[in-house]
Amino acid sequence: MNKNSSTFDVIIIGGGLAGLSSAIHLSKASLSVLVIEKNSYPKHKVCGEYISNEVLPYLKFLDIDVFKLGAKKIDKFQLSTTKSKLISSTLPLGGFGISRFCLDDALAKKAIQVDAEILQDSVEDVQFSNDKFSVKTINAKQYEARIVIGAYGKRSNLDIKLKRQFIKRKSPYLAVKTHVKGNFPDDVVALHNFEGGYCGVSKVENNHINLCYITSLDAFKMHKDIDEFQQNVIYKNTFLKDIFNNTSPVFEEPLTISQISFDNKKPIENHIIMCGDTAALIHPLCGNGMSMAIRSAQIASLLIIKYFNSEISDREALEKQYLREWNTAFKLRLKTGHIIADLFNQPKLSEVLMQVLKWFPGILPFIIKRTHGNLMKSE
Ligand SMILES: Cc1cc2nc3c(=O)[nH]c(=O)nc-3n(C[C@H](O)[C@H](O)[C@H](O)COP(=O)(O)OP(=O)(O)OC[C@H]3O[C@@H](n4cnc5c(N)ncnc54)[C@H](O)[C@@H]3O)c2cc1C
Repeated sequence: MNKNSSTFDVIIIGGGLAGLSSAIHLSKASLSVLVIEKNSYPKHKVCGEYISNEVLPYLKFLDIDVFKLGAKKIDKFQLSTTKSKLISSTLPLGGFGISRFCLDDALAKKAIQVDAEILQDSVEDVQFSNDKFSVKTINAKQYEARIVIGAYGKRSNLDIKLKRQFIKRKSPYLAVKTHVKGNFPDDVVALHNFEGGYCGVSKVENNHINLCYITSLDAFKMHKDIDEFQQNVIYKNTFLKDIFNNTSPVFEEPLTISQISFDNKKPIENHIIMCGDTAALIHPLCGNGMSMAIRSAQIASLLIIKYFNSEISDREALEKQYLREWNTAFKLRLKTGHIIADLFNQPKLSEVLMQVLKWFPGILPFIIKRTHGNLMKSE
């Protein structure tokens, strides 16, 4: 591959989990790949940082060993209501805790090692004509490719350029994440509800505890700042009060994001193959967005390799097959995620649901299974 060329087989917009997984996979198949990522590595991201084990066989294929990076094995789940009633369960498939600071960085290093190019720049426009793409960055660089993967996360300036429907609607959610030090079991992921939102708690490498909560803007804006919101709302859940009060912060300031949208999106726009959150975002209470991002990257990569090998005849066939496989993998999880989130949004209903789960604890692993996939294939 000519490193000075501005023409690639595949350009990937966004170097998060989806973009980097695809970059490694496609580079291993000897395709020339350019990843354009606006930030540098390593970098903290707002995320609960609990990942389902379903990705482990594929991460092995990508040559990433999360346990060598210090990931914590997690196989227990705790759920509490706004009224601090607790229910515990095992996780059917289990998972692990690792920070995005660590995981994205490891994937980026691996991508470079297998010859993908990573450029730190921000994509501002993508044009498709004569069966190829032209990608422009804010630094006025221009690149060409036969295939473009959109892996730029939840929302971006590009969504406006592409006139995507979801970007026109207001998204009334915001999220806060911090890392703290203190006592918390290595093998538990907890989801504690509070009025207007929920907070995930689990360990990552370095024995840090990830605290990440999501809430509606309406619930948040009645309070002066994060501290006041935590004191007045979050601490009403005694589990959360205990963990916030008995740990010490690792970050100087918590990270925040807003405008989080769970609206439907299209997995293909203007012939760009969308992966990860760019294709759809599942409610974080399902704890499954990261494995969906990695899984969608695998689906896209396998099909793109077939397209370049002429096993898939043309672009139309490639797009149809991606849509079909994407829907099979994710449609049901997304729907279940929406239903669960709606239930937890209604305090009275969620209390009833919790009571039912206490009586019939076997239902909880069943619900978890519906929002998760099976172990991924190892290629
Ligand atoms: C509050 C919250 C908690 C969550 N907790 C969990 C959890 O515990 N477990 C779980 O599995 N999932 C969780 N998720 C979901 C998970 O974080 C996402 O599904 C996952 O990060 C998606 O990865 P991605 O690669 O699609 O996007 P990202 O990781 O967001 O990567 C997108 C990349 O694109 C870059 N980018 C954006 N625009 C441009 C541009 N124009 N040009 C160049 N680069 C660009 C960004 O800088 C970014 O690095 C949570 C989500 C939220 C909001």
